[in-house]
Amino acid sequence: MTRPPSSSSGARRVRCRCGRTVLRQLVGNRAALDVTADADELTAAAAAMLREPNRLDWCVRRRKDGPDLAWVDRRNHPADCLRPHVIDHQCTAPAVPARLPARRKRKPTPVPAGQLSL
Ligand SMILES: [Zn+2]
Ligand SMILES: [Zn+2]
Repeated sequence: MTRPPSSSSGARRVRCRCGRTVLRQLVGNRAALDVTADADELTAAAAAMLREPNRLDWCVRRRKDGPDLAWVDRRNHPADCLRPHVIDHQCTAPAVPARLPARRKRKPTPVPAGQLSL
């Protein structure tokens, strides 16, 4: 099924590298954000719990042609929103080979033999 790109572009369901189904959409008018969110729908409260500074949640509006992600604006978004929410996808697939910061292995401090820790 092909659909000409229209002014109203909803979310696309795509398969991520990690195998999960995610929703992708450009959200926003002026500064559109390329959003990749988990397709699993959560309640607004559950999504808010998972929200982090770099992990946003999105309000899912149902349209006849599919889900449409909307920015959760704290001022305009009701805290008791009844729409499903989704949260930014955190990919578990092996990332593009990047050099990990050298980290020293830390050995657990050995407990001297014969000493019981109470
Ligand atoms: Zn909402
Ligand atoms: Zn992924």
